[in-house]
Amino acid sequence: MRVLLVEDHPPLAEAVMDALGRAGFSVDHAGTASDAREIAAISDFALVILDLGLPDGDGLTLLAQLRDGGRVPVIVLTARDQLSDRLAGLDGGADDYVVKPVEMQELIARCRAVLRRPGERLARQLRVGPLVLDTVARSASLGDRPIPLSRRELGVLEQLMRSAGRVASRAVLEDALYTLDDEVTPNALDAAVSRLRRALERAGCPLPIVTVRGIGWMLPREAAA
Ligand code: CA
Repeated sequence: MRVLLVEDHPPLAEAVMDALGRAGFSVDHAGTASDAREIAAISDFALVILDLGLPDGDGLTLLAQLRDGGRVPVIVLTARDQLSDRLAGLDGGADDYVVKPVEMQELIARCRAVLRRPGERLARQLRVGPLVLDTVARSASLGDRPIPLSRRELGVLEQLMRSAGRVASRAVLEDALYTLDDEVTPNALDAAVSRLRRALERAGCPLPIVTVRGIGWMLPREAAA
């Protein structure tokens, strides 16, 4: 689940990226409104976390621009806790509002709540056949038996389950795993898929990860007869 964080204060940005990363989100960071506009124009995000006080403009202007660009949920993050600012943020199209100093657990819970709203992309539990993935606990199981997986393997599995029965392209899986700033080695995704495939086989999962050569991978909805 890819998130864009727009925040100009480096220590806070790092803390938020760290907390969201551990919660299983991939976070891209922009320190200015113009950087945010550029990144948002070329990438698809599930959610934007937006600081209102940016060095090159008011976040509310950016909020309006993000809104014009399509239906990406936005959580406003700001030190301004006056009611009038709160209302301006929500009137401007924010889906939620978190006041600094930020409690990381609260921010994560609010991200999940926004993403769980109807039409949004995050369900708490994903199920495909006997496979279950808990997006909050960051764990996977086959029926009620846990499958031990690394964070990266879980990220791959989550995308495969979201697109079960369809091919998940290499680009979609890479997007789910890495942020713009990460070093992506060409083989990292293939390695993660191989380890995930072996882990599922060891666990006795009847659903195979099918390689669609040159395109990506697919998790079938049902085991082959
Ligand atoms: Ca700021």
